[in-house]
This record gives sequence, structure tokens and C-alpha cells, in this order.
Amino acid sequence: MKNQTHTLLKNVYGYDNFRPLQEEIINRTIDGKDSFVLMPTGGGKSICFQIPALVFDGITIVVSPLISLMKDQVQALKSNGIKADFFNSSISPQEENDVIGRAMNGELQLLYLSPEKLISVSNTWLRELNIKLVAIDEAHCVSMWGHDFRPEYTQLKVFRNSLPKVPFMALTATADKSARKDIEDQLGLTNSKLFISSFDRKNLSIEVRGQVPKQKKLQEIGNFIERRKEQSGIIYCLSRKNTEEVASHLKQRGHSVAFYHAGMNNEEREKTQTDFINDDTKIIVATIAFGMGIDKSNVRFVIHYNLPKNLEGYYQEIGRAGRDGLPSETILYYNMRDFVLYSQFADGGANSDMQKEKLNRMLQFAEAKSCRRKILLSYFGEHLTENCGNCDVCENPPKDFEGTVITQKALSGIARMKEKDGITMLINVLRGSNNADIHSKQYYNLKTYGIGKDVSFFDWRDYVIQMANQGLIEIMYSENSALKISPIGWAVLKGEKTIRLTTPLTSDDKKKKAKTIKATIGSEANKDLFTELKKIRYSIAKEENMPAYIIFNDKTLKLMASELPTTENEFLAISGVGMNKMEKYGDEFMSVIRKFKSVAKPRKVSTMQHTFNLYQEGFNASEIAEKRNLSITTVFSHLSQLYMEGKEVELEKLVDTKVIDKVRIAFNELDRKVALKPIYEKLNEEVSYGEIRLSITLILKNE
Ligand code: ADP
Ligand code: ZN
Repeated sequence: MKNQTHTLLKNVYGYDNFRPLQEEIINRTIDGKDSFVLMPTGGGKSICFQIPALVFDGITIVVSPLISLMKDQVQALKSNGIKADFFNSSISPQEENDVIGRAMNGELQLLYLSPEKLISVSNTWLRELNIKLVAIDEAHCVSMWGHDFRPEYTQLKVFRNSLPKVPFMALTATADKSARKDIEDQLGLTNSKLFISSFDRKNLSIEVRGQVPKQKKLQEIGNFIERRKEQSGIIYCLSRKNTEEVASHLKQRGHSVAFYHAGMNNEEREKTQTDFINDDTKIIVATIAFGMGIDKSNVRFVIHYNLPKNLEGYYQEIGRAGRDGLPSETILYYNMRDFVLYSQFADGGANSDMQKEKLNRMLQFAEAKSCRRKILLSYFGEHLTENCGNCDVCENPPKDFEGTVITQKALSGIARMKEKDGITMLINVLRGSNNADIHSKQYYNLKTYGIGKDVSFFDWRDYVIQMANQGLIEIMYSENSALKISPIGWAVLKGEKTIRLTTPLTSDDKKKKAKTIKATIGSEANKDLFTELKKIRYSIAKEENMPAYIIFNDKTLKLMASELPTTENEFLAISGVGMNKMEKYGDEFMSVIRKFKSVAKPRKVSTMQHTFNLYQEGFNASEIAEKRNLSITTVFSHLSQLYMEGKEVELEKLVDTKVIDKVRIAFNELDRKVALKPIYEKLNEEVSYGEIRLSITLILKNE
């Protein structure tokens, strides 16, 4: 069976390895048992029920509330040669009959249904089908505790009870502990096993930019997009008006952009969404209504124009970027005004305390000075032991310094202004500004007037917010945001307590960062070919009337552009190419690659070829390293790559089997992540990077 599921993974989907948990879930399901699958968006839930569906001799029913998604998913299945269809309110009676006919004739492996349709047909033709598995997608919809309760889902229990011997699988990306229990009860999954995969999406970079004035924000977003021509992205705004403003600004700058919000009619919304999915519009500026029913895998960035209301929403929204696993960027803009506005909204509404608490957590995240991913994941109950290295804080770790004196200056400023003014007035007084308000209030007479001239306005602002975050100052939103000193603040003022502050980012730091982003983009391999491949994909997508990413996702095209496959075997070796797609599209893509290869200037012998030549001449790895003035790790890495390409390299001879065994154990224990460093550390730095690389190549190749 292990072989069968692996073969399906490779032949149908074109993938070499299962992701963590997928295989276990699949095997349990094939054994006829129930499972509860909790994985983040993009985590790879679909394969968990699709592969059993291919193994079973019968039909798998998939229940999903997202009608707009069904069509895409079924198309994706069909493009991989799987017999699937859907049944929901969007199809005509004729089409309905057609689908029913095929289901009854045993011609379908998977049938997607909306819950309401399922209920309405569960006592008619559905009973006649040879159902082998039922998957309930978006299972959180059954729980009244969740944010997305659908009454139809509560009737699924009856359906479950009518099929006592059939395995059920519940899948969702959001459910906390109490909701999980509720879902199991509501669906009658008494013996299910819970599978939770990590919610860490390592390929998403996280950045937060605070207190950026509106014009600058628009400018920055425009520049950001300019540096990412042809990339797809979503910009989330709080209000409909904002979406239209931002979209029009970007359009003026010549970008392919549209807005989307609940005030548009159905038709307009659908068209906007379709254009985005088909890459006819690159960027969507939307209220949070957008994205629920979207499965687009090549969204390269998500920008929040305003502070989201809570971390759940924020994480779900940034999660729409990078579903194909390629590096993707997220930026969150926020300012205090968003915060104050939401707090006021929340006042008096339902669950007002809980909403405010969630909003506070959101703000704390935005203002934090430690690894953002750590904070985010710990909010969801997952604890990272190391900083992520892929968030703005990790990239520019704040330097902290003894800040008691600065803090005392600010606090005494607040005290002398009798705790009646807000942050701007405080800073103006500290910096000795000369404006009308200061005159009318005669603040130039205060002892604190001008004692903070040496610090810029923006730095002061940063410091005061840090003081608020450390609980020294309270911002009274109910009193025009006047600043009040807390008991701990008074202790600092009296010299009973010291305080550390962190240095704000300078614009130099930010420039440095922009440069590194540029550098990584510039260094992509064979960018021109990638663009060509995208064009081909686009034209096929138009011909076949389906979203481009269903044909091949960006990751697969990138691999083609770097590996340059020109034979069927080479093409099949690319991750994401299954048999069906190879047959359907192989020729078209390979002919572009061949053309590219023949036109591309014959480079001087490539560095790998050079290594290979010496290897063939009989030199061993360390001799090659010495001759070529390369590190042994590099030579090992060349050799394993050559081996992967099918060149005659006897990798087995280069590394001891005992070493391979050691690496295998570590590799498995580390969830089979192909990352050298963790393995190196796990093995107490006793096995070299080069040997680890060779071992992994061998382990993967010989499975
Ligand atoms: P989810 O339903 O959890 O949001 P999907 O099932 O849509 O996620 O999977 C996200 C992406 O990951 C898809 O493009 C899918 O083909 C890909 N994927 C799933 N499993 C694997 C795997 N084992 N190896 C490589 N890619 C995979
Ligand atoms: Zn980090």
C-alpha cells in the first residue's frame, strides 16, 4: 500500500514526497477510520482525501460550503486526470442529471456537494451510490462557536449515522480546542484521530510598518509593486472607500489593479474575482470580504492597509499568499487611528469585551520588538524555540539601551501638563515647538518645555509608544487620547525603577533592506525563460478556460526554468508534473525550453560540468576541491546534483553507509525537512554538511 500511495502521489500529482502527516492520514483513511485534519491554508489538506479516493473502488463525497471554489478544485482534479465533478446550486437541471448519471454509473471518483444539496438528495439517488469515503471540508462551519457557522452543516450528523461503516474525514484550517470538540460532537465523529500540522508558514515573510502617514503609505505601496512587476497580490483595506482610493492611486501609476467590496453587485464581484484568478488583473484592493473562496496559489504578497481586527483574521489573510510554497511577502500597516476607531466600534456591540481584548492583542503584535512569528504562533498555541529569521524584527533586531532618563523626561512632561493632552502635544512641548496651541495653553512656561530637543519627532513618538507598551503610560481613548501615568510610570518618575528602550529603525536601515530585496529578485535563475513559460501557460489557460495556476503553479514553472527539462523523463522529474499533465502540456513547454537552450549563449563550461569532467577523469572529491579551489561541501553538492540529473556518479562510494543511517534517523526525526543545518546540529556537528547533503540525496532517491 505504501507503494501504491507513493506512486499515485508521483504519477498523478507529480510530487516526490508526502508532507508531514499526509501519509498517516491517508493510511488511516484507507483502513476505514475517521480523522480530524487541522492544517493551515495551503498545508495540503486536499491530498489527504483525494489519494484514498483514488485507491478506493467507489465514490468519495466531498462536502464544501464554498461553491465558487468547487469548480476550481474539480478542474484541478480533472487536469490531473481524475474523474471528479460537483453538484451545487450553480448548475442547470440538465447538468444535474448528467452528473447524477455519471455518479450512478460509477464513473466518478470524487463528487463535491454543497451541504444543502447533500441534504436534499441524501434520501434519493445518493443512497444508491457506492460511497467509500466522506470528506467534510471547512468543518468549522458546523460549530456555533466559530465565526462561520452554517446551519446546514448541523444536519450532516444524520448523514454520518446513515453510513456507519464509511470513514469520515473532517478538515479545517481554523478551530481552537473547544471548537474541535464541538465539531466532533456535531458530526458524530466518536472515534476520530486528530491530526494537527504546524501552522508555521515559513515561506511568508512578515513585516509591520507603523505610523506611516497616508500619502507616504500610498507612495510606499506603489514603489513596492513597481519592484515586483507581474506579481499577483492582495491589498486589504478597512473601508470600501479606501479600496477605491488605493486602487485608483495605483491605477494612475500604471498598475493592473481592481477593487472589490461588498457594495458591488454580484456580477461585478464575480468578474473581478475571475480576472484575478486568471491573472488578467494582478492586484486586488479589497475589504476582507475578498479571498474566502479563492484558491489561487501564486499570490506573491498580501498588504494590510489598516490594522486587522484580530490575529485570527490577520493570519488567515496573510495565509492567502504563497500557497505554492514559494517565498512571499506580507506587510502590515497600522496606526493608532485604526485602533481607536475599532475600539469605538466594538463599544457596546456584541461580545464587546472579547473583541477589544483581541484588538489589544493585535496591536501588541504590531508594536512588538521581538520575533513576530514567535508571537503569532504562540497565540495559536504553537511555540517556536528559535527566532524565525524571516520577519522584520529578526532582520533588524532592535538594539536596546538604558532609557530611564528619556522616559522620565516624557513622564514629567505628562505630569506637568496635568495628564490632559495627547501624544503630539507632549512631543511638541518636549521639543520646544512654537505653535498656537502651546501659546494658548502657555506651555512654554513649563519646566519640561524644550528638554527633548535633541530627539526627532518620530523617535519620540516611537519611544512614547514603547512606554505605553511597557505599561508606564495609559492612552485614554475615551478622553481624546490623553496620556495618563500608571503606577509603574510613577515609580519610574520617582527613580524607583529603571527602563530599557529600543532604538527606532533609521531610514538607512530601511534602505539597506530594500537593497537586499532587490538583490534577491535580480538573482533569480533564467528569469526570461520563466517569463516565457508563464506566457505559454497563460495562453493555454485562455484556450482551456481555466485558471493558469491549475495548469502548473509558479513553483513548478520555476523548477522548469532552472532544471531545463527537455526529455519526457526529465520533465516528469519536475515536482508538480504528473503523467496527465506531462502528456497534455509536456511538448508545448519543452519546446519553449529547447528554444531557450539553443538560443542561450553557450556558456563557458558550467561549474558543475567542470566538476563532472574532473570526476570522470578519476579525481576524488577532495582532489577536485583542491584543484578547483572550492570547498569540499560545494563539490559534494555538485556531485549530488549531477547524480540527481541522472549523470553517472557513484554517490554511494563517497559516503559511508553508517553515516547515511545516522542522517536518515535525524532527517526523519526532523519531519524530513530538507534543511542541512538542523540535521548538522542534531548530529552534534559530527557529520559534515557535504556528507549530509549526499546522504539526503541518496535517501530520497532510493525510497
Ligand atoms: P489546503 O487545502 O490545505 O489549503 P491544498 O490541498 O490546496 O491546501 O494544497 C496546497 C498546495 O500544496 C497545492 O498546490 C498542492 O498541490 C500542494 N501540495 C500538497 N501536498 C503536497 C506534497 N506532498 N508535495 C508538494 N506539494 C504538495
Ligand atoms: Zn522572526
